[in-house]
Amino acid sequence: MKKILSIIIVISIVVIYTTIKNKKEVSVEKEISFEEKMRDIIVDNIDITKYYIYGNHLNIEGKIPEELNEKNTKLVLKSEKKELEYDVHILDSTFSTSNLLNEGINLETIKEGKYYILLKIIQDENTKYYGCIDQSNMIDNIYYTLSNNNKTNKVEIKSDEYMYLNIKNKKIPKNVYDIVLDAGHGGKDSGAIYNKNKESTFTLDYTLSLKQKLENYGYKVKVTRDKDITLNSYGKNSRTSTSYETKAKYLFSIHFNENKVKWNGIEFYAAPNINLDFISSLANDVVNNVGIGYAKNTYYKVKDGIYIRTFNSYDINKMNEDATKKGYTPYEIKENTPYLYMIRETGGFMTKAMIDGREANKGKNEYYQNNIASESYLLELSYMNTNDCINFIVNNKEKYTDVLANSIHHYIETNIKEKNSLN
Ligand SMILES: [Zn+2]
Repeated sequence: MKKILSIIIVISIVVIYTTIKNKKEVSVEKEISFEEKMRDIIVDNIDITKYYIYGNHLNIEGKIPEELNEKNTKLVLKSEKKELEYDVHILDSTFSTSNLLNEGINLETIKEGKYYILLKIIQDENTKYYGCIDQSNMIDNIYYTLSNNNKTNKVEIKSDEYMYLNIKNKKIPKNVYDIVLDAGHGGKDSGAIYNKNKESTFTLDYTLSLKQKLENYGYKVKVTRDKDITLNSYGKNSRTSTSYETKAKYLFSIHFNENKVKWNGIEFYAAPNINLDFISSLANDVVNNVGIGYAKNTYYKVKDGIYIRTFNSYDINKMNEDATKKGYTPYEIKENTPYLYMIRETGGFMTKAMIDGREANKGKNEYYQNNIASESYLLELSYMNTNDCINFIVNNKEKYTDVLANSIHHYIETNIKEKNSLN
């Protein structure tokens, strides 16, 4: 009996000992966290001076040692399981992920997880990783991807010791939208008028119709107005505030054009320094399927149907004279500053938004220094300066908004959600 008891005791001790030992080993393994592994592979730091999101794309800029070049340097997003790699552009001792606002890191294609933002340098078959230190003082750090059945990926740009992206799939917040549609003019501002036909009525009709059709494709759409009211350009409930507060990825401002010359055709306006594929495909689809051509207007035209209207020296002189007259310091208009406020002021610092409240009666764009903003376009859908134009606008609304909705959806599905799909 004694013997059996001592055997049992010995066995128990062995079992307890091995259990503790195993547990210890397991916990030792657990202690090497993902964060620690990252700190182990990072050999040096890179200062990040700027990051921004225009539309769907994140761009990062920073300083790097001079010996690095475009060939041996990549930006990587490194999670526990994978490493996504992006090209960088290097000029002197600074790098950026893209020279175009709506290119770079497509946030729509990255799946849930924690991703460290690293620079990867390949030299003589050795790979070195640099950790990114946020020196940017950027205002905003939260992006929501285009929604899918009321779900969205919330993308946070954060730092512990190093910068990382934290991506989580969530229910889309009530006040977050995919697309903003702006019905131009309204209320006291009728826009163009031809034979008592008001532009503001047409823009509202087309906007509400387009909203319905984009919603049918599953997008969450916010309109800046759904009735004939006067909207402020800046401040609370204004056209510009709506675009930032909804965190929309795209904004389309709907207009109809006028000119003393009896032109017709479409003029779609975009910001400078962007990839024009999206707006070009929209213009092509309209011309091929609606029965309206490209406008003949050549001012600020960059290609058929596509226009980039920036400040010219006449505009700048006029702004300066106005400022002197009204007693405020003139704006420092930079080269390539967009002239159309719906494009400039909805794009944060990326599109050189500038309305900082210095003009007493104009209001202030609270978000003019923002670093996350919608990709914005202004669509002059037709001229309205002949009876033919008016008849066309009145009789083709359904067809026109069908084509616009279909074209927008098709581009997003094939070029934003699919192209460059990394995981
Ligand atoms: Zn207009």
